[in-house]
Amino acid sequence: MINVLFAAGAGRWPDYAEALPKALAEAGLNVDLSRDHAPETVDYIVTAPSGDVQDYRPYTSCKLVQNIWAGVENITENPTLTQPLARMVDPGLTQGMVEWVTGHTLRHHLGMDLHIHGQDGVWRDFVPPLAWDRPVTVLGLGALGSACAATLAGLGFPVRGWARSATTIDGVETFAGPGGLSRALDGAQIVILLLPLTEATRHIMNTETLALLAPGAVILNPGRGPLIDNDALLAALEDQLGHATLDVFETEPLPPDHPFWAHPKVTVTPHIASETRPRTAATVIAENIRRGETGAPFLHLVDRASGY
Ligand code: NAP
Repeated sequence: MINVLFAAGAGRWPDYAEALPKALAEAGLNVDLSRDHAPETVDYIVTAPSGDVQDYRPYTSCKLVQNIWAGVENITENPTLTQPLARMVDPGLTQGMVEWVTGHTLRHHLGMDLHIHGQDGVWRDFVPPLAWDRPVTVLGLGALGSACAATLAGLGFPVRGWARSATTIDGVETFAGPGGLSRALDGAQIVILLLPLTEATRHIMNTETLALLAPGAVILNPGRGPLIDNDALLAALEDQLGHATLDVFETEPLPPDHPFWAHPKVTVTPHIASETRPRTAATVIAENIRRGETGAPFLHLVDRASGY
């Protein structure tokens, strides 16, 4: 019997209590899934950064800690977590992010606000350019960024993408490493941030990098709040930038008196760009446990040195 501790919180338990046993059985695994195993008997922990386990030291037999979130910056900081750590790459999460990014890209591309807010009898016959005249840049070409870049390229946008290492995506012009950043951003009209938060990516959008964007450019940030230097963003929104649609913030929930809420060129969405979906995530968790039991390498392991 394999003991799996579900430590991702009471609120998430009902969904996973339904989805996980099914996926584990389909993977041929004989598992005792519980929220309450004796620590030394636990083989696998399914967790979340704010989950039930914060001290991982008593879990001496644990082969893998599987995070149910894609972002791991809060969990990698836990010095008691020395077991292998996997982050979540979930088809449902990816699909949700593609939908959020595509929807907000098209809102700005088509100038939808003009008509949504302009029901005042004025015939505004503004015709938006076609997608192929709207350069889009995606920073971060991992599970989420590459899917978004490919979808936007499929819609006809000229898409540039940037990652740490050389990445190939059909129909997307890609750049790598610090030297490639300015080439990826130069003249971009819509920029999408899908980088993890690490020391290397903190404030990647700052006065210098924001100045590379086209006049009237739009930033979408479903990545992490501190990817943007907020003071530089607010200054750039004064004249150069057209809009910022922000899903993630340095402090969440975003405090009610934060200038972003009332800013006419900022849209706030409350960290809902995409969520892990228990049904599809359960399959991913089951696959990693199957790998652990058969000696195959785990999927989506976090590299502690790079922080993601
Ligand atoms: P991922 O698969 O780990 O991809 C990360 C990408 O960022 C990779 O292309 C990586 O390049 C690149 N990168 C990392 N550090 C870099 C650096 N210093 N310079 C250039 N490129 C760098 O992550 P993911 O699953 O796509 O998720 C991305 C982020 O989205 C998560 O970390 C999380 O913060 C955020 N997220 C937000 C929500 C939401 O609802 N708002 C939901 C899920 C995730 P290499 O592959 O070359 O290393």
